[in-house]
Amino acid sequence: MAVDTRTRTHTKRTLTALALAPLVLLAAASGAGCGKAGSPPVKGPAPGSLPRYQVDPAFRLPASPTWSAAKRRGHLVVGAKEDQPYVGEKDPATGVYSGFDIEIAKMTAASLGFAPDGIRFRTIASANRETALQNGQIDYYVGTYTINANRKKLVGFAGPYYLAGQSLLVRTGEHGIGGPRDLDGKRVCSAPGSTPYQRIKDDYPRAELVSYDTYSVCVDNLLTFQVDAVTTDDTILMGYAAKVPDALKVVGRPFSKEPYGIGVPRGDTALRFALDDAIAAREQNGDWRRAYDATLGLSGRAPAPPPPIDRYPAK
Ligand code: GLU
Repeated sequence: MAVDTRTRTHTKRTLTALALAPLVLLAAASGAGCGKAGSPPVKGPAPGSLPRYQVDPAFRLPASPTWSAAKRRGHLVVGAKEDQPYVGEKDPATGVYSGFDIEIAKMTAASLGFAPDGIRFRTIASANRETALQNGQIDYYVGTYTINANRKKLVGFAGPYYLAGQSLLVRTGEHGIGGPRDLDGKRVCSAPGSTPYQRIKDDYPRAELVSYDTYSVCVDNLLTFQVDAVTTDDTILMGYAAKVPDALKVVGRPFSKEPYGIGVPRGDTALRFALDDAIAAREQNGDWRRAYDATLGLSGRAPAPPPPIDRYPAK
């Protein structure tokens, strides 16, 4: 990776559990989650509160090479994130994934004829999503994945199924950062290959950009005073803040629009349209809202109705 004067790339650390350890320790030390009035629960969604999605066993999609291969294989392989609380999180003890994106994966898979136990989740970092879809490592991807024109040249997008916005996470004791203009000369951490990383690089060149593959390692560095702020989508940052409300806070207003799509192999229009239909149907029958309330809603984010689906033609 290129290193320039204002971009520092650090050694990759992949042990998410290890990376989040300070978070957990700090949470314990600060007594977070011990019933402080108004603070969101520290634990993830209670399994009993999650909706069950009706599976359509008769569903067929022979026009989709991805769906056909998954059917022959007997399961779907879905790319996701594993360190984003309430959005896409993997329990290191059980290997079970949870969060809003995971629910989106499950509800759309059900519409394609796959029950939840017919999905294998695979963690893919922001920078590797396009390659994973291009080389068939995954069938589709649900992981805070912003739809944009550049990415559409490489992959297809169903949706959007949610609208997020770039924001800033700082320590609760920080009073000098309230928006991206305050980042001049400050160390701000983000993940390369993401839209928030690119926006800081392009629009706020006086910020000192620090990069790690995953946001949880950025948060680790924020808690240990190695960086001054972490930037990515508000959805992700609010999840970290909700885990340790005494130590971390999200500041300012979102300064971008990040419409989340389900990434699919670019040529597989049949799969993309089937996922568009699945999202629309789950929004209509209340599954989307139930899933939201049981996951992302727990981080304190007000439910925003999903934007209209963009069923763009095949090119
Ligand atoms: N939504 C942004 C993106 O797709 C940031 C979150 C992420 O890296 O997944 O780049």
